[in-house]
Amino acid sequence: MSTNDDHPAAANFVRDLVIADGERQTFGGRVQTRFPPEPNGYLHIGHGKAITIDFELAREFGGICNLRFDDTNPDTEDTSYVDAIIDDLAWLGYPIETALYASDYFEQLYRWAQVLVEHGLAYVDEQDGETISAQRGGYGKPGIESPHRDRPPAESLELFARMRDGEFSDGGPVLRAKIDMQHENMQLRDPIMYRIRNAEHHRTGSDWKIYPTYDWAHGQSDAIEGVTHSLCTLEFDSHRPLYDWYLDRIRELDGLPFDQPRQTEFARLELTHTVTSKRKLLQLIDDGIVDGWDDPRLPTLRGLRRRGYPPEAIREFFEFIGVSRTNSRNEIELLESFVRRRLNAITQRRMAVLRPLKVVITNWPTDESGAPVVEQMELTNNPENDADGTRLVPFTGELWIEQEDFAADPPPKYYRLSPGREVRLRGAYFVTCTGFEIGDDGNVVEVHVTYDPATTGGNAPDGRKVKSTMHWVSTAHAVDATVALYERLFTAEVPGEATGDAMDDLDPASREVLSGCKLEPALADTPLGEVVQFERLGYFAHDPAMPLLFHRTVGLRDEWANIQKRKG
Ligand code: ATP
Ligand code: MG
Repeated sequence: MSTNDDHPAAANFVRDLVIADGERQTFGGRVQTRFPPEPNGYLHIGHGKAITIDFELAREFGGICNLRFDDTNPDTEDTSYVDAIIDDLAWLGYPIETALYASDYFEQLYRWAQVLVEHGLAYVDEQDGETISAQRGGYGKPGIESPHRDRPPAESLELFARMRDGEFSDGGPVLRAKIDMQHENMQLRDPIMYRIRNAEHHRTGSDWKIYPTYDWAHGQSDAIEGVTHSLCTLEFDSHRPLYDWYLDRIRELDGLPFDQPRQTEFARLELTHTVTSKRKLLQLIDDGIVDGWDDPRLPTLRGLRRRGYPPEAIREFFEFIGVSRTNSRNEIELLESFVRRRLNAITQRRMAVLRPLKVVITNWPTDESGAPVVEQMELTNNPENDADGTRLVPFTGELWIEQEDFAADPPPKYYRLSPGREVRLRGAYFVTCTGFEIGDDGNVVEVHVTYDPATTGGNAPDGRKVKSTMHWVSTAHAVDATVALYERLFTAEVPGEATGDAMDDLDPASREVLSGCKLEPALADTPLGEVVQFERLGYFAHDPAMPLLFHRTVGLRDEWANIQKRKG
């Protein structure tokens, strides 16, 4: 992992803000945050960043961070997403004891809305949605006031009650805040607070026929819970005056249970070569480009988990990149550096041959019964951690090596096995190539070598050197497996930059599945979901559900330094 010389130490302006608030005793020195997902999809790495910011701030300052489901839209939400989100949070390192739900506040929100109506600060508008949105105007385009804007509060109150009672069908009257139809911020041009939805809600069933909008639900939910710092992404910047307007009015007219919360926006996380938008992720799944929400090529938390990304590495990455108010895109190679560094420290080394080619040691001894001798070679499990010890790997006269580790006609600077060349078989012996056999299809099908019994353990007593060390698996002991190799899902750094459609930049060959891969026997015991290092090949995650399916997490070479050099 390269150091952060070119990368300024993580600035986190939100943390600075919380510290300053603490010094001023704003909120009585309390810190309370929340992570507010809408349960309408699975979490991706962008959500992961928000989660980490919210939970780590609360932890650092001895506060509270709640998971609150922003479940105000019954059409798209579902309990399966609720469960998955709770599960993903626990995996990332933030187990939740009690989840909160905006839907638990529907009654309070309704009462506060009534207060606004009573004070002439909200009204029921019976115009259709198209008219309302046309009347909103735009920048430099005046808004047009609804003919219902000045109806008496009593009339709005009665209509509002009838809306709640289910007298109207979808698309019927809405409740709007009465703010300013000429405001330069469109969010304040009499925003909608409630709309009719005759749908089953996953928690409140058919109790409610009206549902609050995001803006009406969000700040008020924060206030009910006692949130101090309400953190969200930059696109909500223009919503902040509305967030404040609602809370100011409620505080003045009805009082708030806690200090008034404050919204602060930070830049979304974006990564090169991928997309972090629920809508685009859904499109990838619906179009059959990937297998599902946990496809290892997706930046969903489920995908990263299945791919073998350690949650600690993801959190370290977030800490490293910091929190700012400037939108930018981080290199996926940087995230991979953190993944690789952590995996290097914790994974067991194993040998696996992905594209096997048979090697026969022509001078290998046989025992009294005429069977080839089997030796047990002692190999280190993890050179980074002595406590992981060693294991025995069976070695005998017939082995698998990688096809690319043999060249019948070697190009210049090819130091692996080729006719006449001596190489080391990792932890075993030096072998010298004496010949090879060509199959009917013209490909090499078998390589013949002799071994030097004096080089046991992979070292020559006469001190002679070889230029290459190769991994191997005994054919008689090999375990067959399937290994999936992954490339970037999108070839372009910024998917869609050229054409406007990210899908134009999809790499059709982002996954290559190899079957008949040959593993050393110990790999059959790898716990499901665990990551191991296949020597010389990279880190591979055992699938969480399918034994003997491995996913390449990352290769061994760090590409981050190169990327930085290239970009100057
Ligand atoms: P998407 O845009 O992917 O559909 P969303 O914002 O609609 O995501 P929510 O469930 O509403 O999804 O998001 C929950 C929280 O996660 C919000 O506070 C949101 O600001 C934050 N969040 C979403 N995407 C990112 C991102 N890429 N980087 C940082 N935070 C994010
Ligand atoms: Mg959202």
